[in-house]
Amino acid sequence: MNSDNLPQAECAIIGGVGVFKPEKDALQMISTPFGEVEAFFVEEKGIKLAIIPRHLVNGKHIPPHRINYRANIKAVEKIGVKRIIATNSVGSMKNHPLGSFFVPNDFIDFTKMRPSTFFDNETVHIDMSEPYCPQLRAALLHSLSKNTLPFSQGTYICTEGPRFETKSEVKMLSQFGDVVGMTGFPEVVLAKELQLCYASICTITNPACGLNCGKLTSDEVVEIVESTKEKLFRVILDSIGILDPQRNCNCKNSKENAII
Ligand SMILES: [Zn+2]
Repeated sequence: MNSDNLPQAECAIIGGVGVFKPEKDALQMISTPFGEVEAFFVEEKGIKLAIIPRHLVNGKHIPPHRINYRANIKAVEKIGVKRIIATNSVGSMKNHPLGSFFVPNDFIDFTKMRPSTFFDNETVHIDMSEPYCPQLRAALLHSLSKNTLPFSQGTYICTEGPRFETKSEVKMLSQFGDVVGMTGFPEVVLAKELQLCYASICTITNPACGLNCGKLTSDEVVEIVESTKEKLFRVILDSIGILDPQRNCNCKNSKENAII
């Protein structure tokens, strides 16, 4: 059950508006202490989804460093949904094929100025030894294999943006991680703080700047996103379809022993 008589959903998708193309009349406003959030409630192949367009508010495109991450995650909690699948576009630092998929198993935070916790007035140290939900990750990996789509796993590095990285930055970051993006953090942490399950499926849209590329443009990124969205649609729905309705992971206990 959720408050405010909002529609029910089995899973929240953060991002993915281009993938699911929800109709305008599916839009609902969810109010949170951090601001209002737009969510589309849709049903695809019998699966009820709440789609939160990370970048869109009132039809306006919000840059990565200005996204209201806390409001988006709080909205998921408010509608009573326990599972989140995020979609992200990333640059490869390890020569992944463009248009292939990437399922992070860890992250490194290189952002600088985003509010990244719900706990400003109490001391809570959330464990990050397994940031992404193992049950959701397993479902995504299984669906990618089943659909014979190219994919890899590894460490997601989040930068502040909105600019792309310099060549020297990519040279440094590639020592630490596999892909680089601007929207994966702090969502993963905020979800964990609210004991929600969270996993991400990233699309490799470009080589990180300085690696096999001249000038990196947003158009190239959009082109790859367009060409992969149907596959992404299939993988996400298949993943949710094979999930045990019971959460068999430890995400629901993430606050245990974390509060001082
Ligand atoms: Zn979980």
